[in-house]
Formats: sequence, C-alpha cells, structure tokens
Amino acid sequence: MKIKPEQLKDMVRLRLQPSKGRTQISDAKAQPGREKPPLVWLETNTCHGNILSVMNIANPTFPELMEDIFDLRYSNTLMFGQGSQPIEVLEAVMAGEIKDYFLVVEGTVPTKDNGIYCVIGLKDGQNYTALQAVRDLGPEAKYVIAVGSCAAWGLPFGAYPNPSGSKPVSAVINRKVINVPGCPTNPEWAVGTLVHLAMYGEPELDSLNRPVMFYGETIHNLCTRRHYYESGIFAKKLGEPWCMFKIGCKGPVTYADCPSRQWNGEHVNWPVGANTPCIGCTSPEFLERTAPFFKHLPDIQLPGVRVASDRAALATGAVTALGIGAHLAGQIATGRLQKTLKKGFSGSFRIKKGKPK
Ligand code: SF4
Repeated sequence: MKIKPEQLKDMVRLRLQPSKGRTQISDAKAQPGREKPPLVWLETNTCHGNILSVMNIANPTFPELMEDIFDLRYSNTLMFGQGSQPIEVLEAVMAGEIKDYFLVVEGTVPTKDNGIYCVIGLKDGQNYTALQAVRDLGPEAKYVIAVGSCAAWGLPFGAYPNPSGSKPVSAVINRKVINVPGCPTNPEWAVGTLVHLAMYGEPELDSLNRPVMFYGETIHNLCTRRHYYESGIFAKKLGEPWCMFKIGCKGPVTYADCPSRQWNGEHVNWPVGANTPCIGCTSPEFLERTAPFFKHLPDIQLPGVRVASDRAALATGAVTALGIGAHLAGQIATGRLQKTLKKGFSGSFRIKKGKPK
C-alpha cells in the first residue's frame, strides 16, 4: 500500500499545537518518485523500547514507514538474517555501496575496555562492538539520529558508577547528532523527525539538538492540570486529580509535547492523564537527577526570597533547580507566586524574605 503525500504531511505535523518556535511545514510538498533513504537502525545497550515504541506508529503504519518511505537495511530486532549476513550488510554500507543512509542509534555506547560490554556480532572472526560500529558507520551517514534518552543522554546505563563507561552517541563520534530523547521516545517524535529529514531536511533544533517541533515547550506549559498549579491546588497522593508538583512532577523543567500529542499510537493518554507525575524522561538530567520520581523538586534559591521544601528531593540537579527557579521568578514578576505559595504551599514550603541562607 502506497502512502499518500498528504498522509506524510499530516504525520509530521500531527496534533502540533500552534506555539512559539515550532516548525511550520504545512507548505511542504511530498516528492513523488524520490529515492527512499536507506535506514540503518543500530541497537546498542538498550531495552529495545524505542523501536518497539516506534512500531506503534499509527499514521503511517510501521510497514508503510519501512517500505514506502525508508529502505530499512539493518535492525537487530526486525531482521531475520543470521550469522554473518547482518554484518555483511553493515560492511556493504561501510564500503560505500549504500549511500546517503540514515544512521539511527538506540541505546548507550559502552566505551570501557574497547567497548566489549556491547557486542553486536562477529566481524572477521572478532567481536564487533557497538562502539566500533558507531564509529565506522557514523562519519559517512547523511544523518545520525540518537533515538531515546539512552542514546541521547547516556543514561540510565551511564549512571554512577557506570562500570561499562557508557556514553551517549554524541560523545563517541565527532559529528552532529540529532537527539530524539524519551524513555521510550514517543513514536511520532522519532518518526516525525526521520520523515522530516527525509522529505524536508533538518528541522529546527534546540541547543541540545532536539527538534523544536516536538520539544519546544515544557510539559508544564501544556499541562491540563496547570490551572490547579496556578491556583495552588496540589495532590498529596497518587490518584488525586490535582497538580502533582508536590508529589514529584518534573513537568515544569521537562521539554516535550506529551500533553497535546499523547501516547499509545492513537493518542489515547499520557502520564499525568493516567495520574502519575512526569518523570522528566526527555531531560538530560534523566534518570540520575530526576529521581526519586515521587519527591518534589528541591529547595529553590531566588534573589531575596527563599523557598524551602521540607521534603527536598535527594539529588535533583542544578539545571533542574535553575529551571524551576526561572519559572518561579516569572511568577514573582507577575505577582502570582506569593499568592500561590501562601495558599497552596503552606505546610510544605516556607518563604523567608531577605538574604537566602
Ligand atoms: S507540575 Fe506537573 S501536574 Fe502540575 S501543572 Fe505542571 S506538569 Fe501538570
């Protein structure tokens, strides 16, 4: 079944809400008769959750994506070649027999002991490591796309003490890597990015090389419970229908469009909609510094005001604190913060005017 050009446009812009900085591609045209980009999907240290998530894409379907838009050449999960066959495909790519290919990497890349902690096959009778594969395939790829937070940020495999020396893709090759984080990635973030690259070239990226069209807003800005936050009405335990900031929600510092796009292929639901706080899975701080998931963000130092939590999280990072600080600073500027804190945070937050201690 051939996919219609209109479907491609719809897929890339699907359910995007008008917002600052998002790529507008409504005037883009599909190109009948164009070459299908070869796709090499390399799985390194991963749970394979990202390719499984991408298989849930609804429009186009996954077979349409792989047959009509791309020419899938290699995927550890999907291919049925055995023994030397898959590695021979990679060798053909490296030899230049397959040009202008897209390299997707899913998973972290172990680097310790020459990358021996992730072996993807045998090449010339020797272990062929993921580290070597990324270094062999990366330089000549038309695009390198790190799909999922493991590939984009290096965690959780790279979490302390990181015995395998696992790193994100961008740390092991010296070239631009487009990051499509998430644990797992939303199928439309990954497929939308790939299709945009195939049809229209590189989308607008943020400072962390994430496509702005999917990661241009915080969860908090799009959240359906935002009015409860503004009114200071907070859930004290899971299951309550109020804002979950005080039970650990990382939405204020997490960039992704989950609230408007939603999940489950047919846009059925998303974490906050299912009564669980955002765990910040698209953030570079995930997982080491967004855990514990059910503790709220830590003490916040602002000029002249100290907002202290009596249930401070253990180790949420400075970036997170700065992010929430900036958000609250904005609230101070609009006069909303003190009202909110006095009403809603009493008992959990103390406000002291004067020099921060
Ligand atoms: S803190 Fe979380 S639940 Fe509350 S409004 Fe923000 S994103 Fe929504």
